[in-house]
Amino acid sequence: MEPGLIQRYRAFLPVTDRTPVISLGEGSTPLLRARALEAWLGCRAEVYLKVEGANPSGSFKDRGMTVALSKAVEDGARAVICASTGNTSASAAAYAAAAGCAAFVLVPQGKVALGKLSQAVAHGATVLEVQGNFDDALKLVKDVAATHPVALVNSINPYRIEGQKTGAFEVCDQLGDAPDLLSIPVGNAGNITAYWRGFQEYRAAARARRLPRLLGWQAEGAAPLVLGHPVKNPRTIASAIRIGNPASWQSAVAAAGESGGAIGAVSDAEILEAYAEIPRREGIFCEPASAAAVAGLRKFHREEGLPAGSRVVCVLTGHGLKDADRALSLAPRPAAVPCTLEAVAAALRLS
Ligand SMILES: *Cc1c(COP(=O)(O)O)cnc(C)c1O
Repeated sequence: MEPGLIQRYRAFLPVTDRTPVISLGEGSTPLLRARALEAWLGCRAEVYLKVEGANPSGSFKDRGMTVALSKAVEDGARAVICASTGNTSASAAAYAAAAGCAAFVLVPQGKVALGKLSQAVAHGATVLEVQGNFDDALKLVKDVAATHPVALVNSINPYRIEGQKTGAFEVCDQLGDAPDLLSIPVGNAGNITAYWRGFQEYRAAARARRLPRLLGWQAEGAAPLVLGHPVKNPRTIASAIRIGNPASWQSAVAAAGESGGAIGAVSDAEILEAYAEIPRREGIFCEPASAAAVAGLRKFHREEGLPAGSRVVCVLTGHGLKDADRALSLAPRPAAVPCTLEAVAAALRLS
């Protein structure tokens, strides 16, 4: 069996011999050179994709959840709770099931991709649709966790960030050093915070020689970190980053700034363009929020230029199947044909 993250990076994580390890074999995700995207971007940099959709529940959230659930069980928790735009609930439900804990999930009503909701339900979580947005749901779960014996597993739980920093460790291990640039979507801003911590810790431990610049990307209609104030009604097709008041606001701004990078915004049109190009060119299907990393890199290259030979990693945070409706809605319906060789050959323009 592939060892999970806690086993592989134990020395960097807040666990002891007494911590029961709740793992589904997360991490060890592919890092792929994306030559066809380099051509699309028109750059002479080396672009790599960190395929986080390859995690057990289909998103990077599993990196944080293995540590969060392990520590919750160590501390005697019998139930966990989270607010979610979808992937946190899918991951929390899966790891809670593995731990034998109950999972309570609050999602914004009607705003969660079907695949993600199906995961939470399949794993036996109790799901409530809140008549509000993600930010409202997060406030509610904080109140519940403060007044009831339920462990909060949103990324304000420090163990989530600790687990997620292993994404940076893996990138360094796979490339032999930190990249020049890391491009990443930003929603509640925990992941960019976690990557920065991971790169810093790896360099301090002499497992990497340098630090990357971080480029974080929000959607234009949900870009509080770019605007400098919370957004009351965040709007974007990229539901995983539809967040108006990020919990890790300060640390994300600090991470981008300290790294010499920035947090910018891309439009839904730019996100959808990248969302269409990535699977066609590279054979990797990610969800719209993940495509923001590539859309943002394209914008950055257009405006500032990626240096030739530099190494760039785009974090593709979640799997495309989670939001299958989105892909189908953007393509023509498959043509119906009679059940004959002639008809099929003609429809495929092979005759
Ligand atoms: C959670 C999530 C994000 C945003 O990550 P934050 O840590 O909230 O900034 C981006 N993409 C996907 C697919 C996610 O599930």
